[in-house]
Amino acid sequence: MARRDNFICQDCGLDCDALRWAIRDLRWGFRSPLTNGFLRAAGIPLDRRRFWEAHHQIPLSEGGLNTLENGVTLCWRCHKKRHATRKAPA
Ligand SMILES: [Zn+2]
Repeated sequence: MARRDNFICQDCGLDCDALRWAIRDLRWGFRSPLTNGFLRAAGIPLDRRRFWEAHHQIPLSEGGLNTLENGVTLCWRCHKKRHATRKAPA
């Protein structure tokens, strides 16, 4: 499913795969307190291995299915946002 969407967030268009490689280079290349601080300020969790998450358009708890049609690729931020705006907790 994420592959179908090319790891691109369907809400904000963030390329999660490109971000993953950029972070990886930062981590193993020139990791410094400065870049770490910058990334953290930007709200990018450095300990993450992937930045996309699978979101169920219809939650499993509401009868949604684990299918490609019901799934959508979101970045971690939009995923959080989607759940935050739902009235019922996930
Ligand atoms: Zn997003």
